[in-house]
Amino acid sequence: MRILVIGAGIIGAALADRLARPADGGRAGRGDAGDTVTVVEERRPGAGTSGTSYAWLNANDPADPAYHRFRTAALRTWRDVAAGFGGPSWYRLAGNTAWAVSADEKARLAARVDGLARLGYAARLIGPDRLRELEPAVRVPGDALIAHYPDEGFVHGGPAAQALALRAQESGARILTGYRAVGLNVEGGRVTGVRLDDGRDLDADLVVCAAGPGAPALLATAGITLPLVDPSAPGSAAPCLVARTTPAPGALNGLVHGPELSVRPAENGGLVLEADDIDAGVDDSVTAERIEAVGTELLARARALVPGLTAKVAEVRRCVRPLPADGRPLVGPQLPGLYTVVTHSGITLGPYLAELVAAEVRGRPAEALEPYRPGR
Ligand SMILES: Cc1cc2nc3c(=O)[nH]c(=O)nc-3n(C[C@H](O)[C@H](O)[C@H](O)COP(=O)(O)OP(=O)(O)OC[C@H]3O[C@@H](n4cnc5c(N)ncnc54)[C@H](O)[C@@H]3O)c2cc1C
Repeated sequence: MRILVIGAGIIGAALADRLARPADGGRAGRGDAGDTVTVVEERRPGAGTSGTSYAWLNANDPADPAYHRFRTAALRTWRDVAAGFGGPSWYRLAGNTAWAVSADEKARLAARVDGLARLGYAARLIGPDRLRELEPAVRVPGDALIAHYPDEGFVHGGPAAQALALRAQESGARILTGYRAVGLNVEGGRVTGVRLDDGRDLDADLVVCAAGPGAPALLATAGITLPLVDPSAPGSAAPCLVARTTPAPGALNGLVHGPELSVRPAENGGLVLEADDIDAGVDDSVTAERIEAVGTELLARARALVPGLTAKVAEVRRCVRPLPADGRPLVGPQLPGLYTVVTHSGITLGPYLAELVAAEVRGRPAEALEPYRPGR
C-alpha cells in the first residue's frame, strides 16, 4: 500500500515512524506490511504547532475517566518511544507542581488531586518543604495549596518531531519537505492522492491528513468540514502566544503551574512561559506592540515565581492550537482513501495515536478510537 502522510508535526512524524519501521524485522522502509510511506511537509518537521507547543505530557483531568485512561495509555507509549531513542534530551519526565491560593482554586485543586488519585494516577498534595526539595528556586505564598504529579513531564516538540521523522526516513520513508499539498485528488468518490503546490500529483492508496491547523483547508478541497475551533473567530481559544526566555540556569526542574502562569524548562536552558488569561483576542491582526507587552507580562510573572530570575524574553510566538470543537481527538477514515488525525493535546497523544492509526490503516480496527471519530 502507498501511504501518503500530510504534515510532519508530532502526529505525522510519529505515524511515519510507526509505519516505516518494521515491527517484526521485515524489510526496512516498507513497514511490517509492505507499505511505502511518503510524508509531505510544507516547511520542515516540527516547524508547526508542535515546535511552539507548551508540550506538557499529562492525563491531569479526572472529569472524563475514559479520556483520562486514553491519555494515561498515551503516557505509557511515550515511555516506550523515549526508551527506543535511548532517553533523548527532548523527553523529560521531570514532574509537575501546581499550586493555588484563593479558596475556589484550592477547592478545585484538592478535588482534582482526589479525583486523579482515585483513578490510580500519581497525584498528591505536598507541603512547602517538599516543594523546596523539588523546585528550590520557586517561591509560592505561605498559604498556598500545593500538588505534585511525579509521573508527568514535557517534550521539546520540535526536536521530538525531527527525531521521529529522521528515524522514519532512516527506515526508508520518503520525507518531502518544502512542498504544500494544495488539494486532495478525488476520483469517483475516492481520494487518489494530493496535488502539490508545484503542480505535481502524488498518487496514493491512502492519504493520512496530519496537517494540524492546516487540516481544514486541505480537507475542504474534498468538500469535508472538520469541526475545529476557527482561529479567526472573535475571542477564539485556538490562537495563543507562547514566550521563551534566554537561559535560566537553576530556575526550574520540572513544570510549574500557578494561578497566573504555566512554566517549564525550554530546550535552550531557558523557560517556556504561557498564561491563558492573556491570550484572548490574539487573532491575525495582533500588533507587534501587543506581542511584546505579553512577553513583558509573562516575564514579570515568572520573576514573581522565581525571584532573582535574570533571564530575558528571547521570543514570543503566536501559534494556533488545532482545537476540535469538543476538545477531543478527530481520528478516522473520512472518504475511501482518506484518513484524518487531528487533535489538541497532540504532544501527549501523538505516539499513541500513531500506534492505533497504524493498526487501523492496516485493517486492524482500534476500538480505543471509537469515541473520537470525526463524524461524531
Ligand atoms: C500554546 C500551545 C500549548 C499546547 N500545550 C499542549 C500541552 O501542554 N500538551 C499537549 O499534549 N499538547 C499541547 N498543545 C497541542 C499540541 O501542541 C498539538 O496538538 C500538536 O502539536 C499538534 O501536532 P500536529 O502534528 O497535529 O500539528 P503540527 O505540529 O502543526 O504539524 C502539522 C504539520 O503539517 C504541515 N502542514 C500543514 N498543512 C500542510 C499542507 N497542506 N501540506 C503540507 N504540509 C502541511 C505544517 O507545516 C506542520 O508542520 C499545545 C498547543 C499550543 C499551541
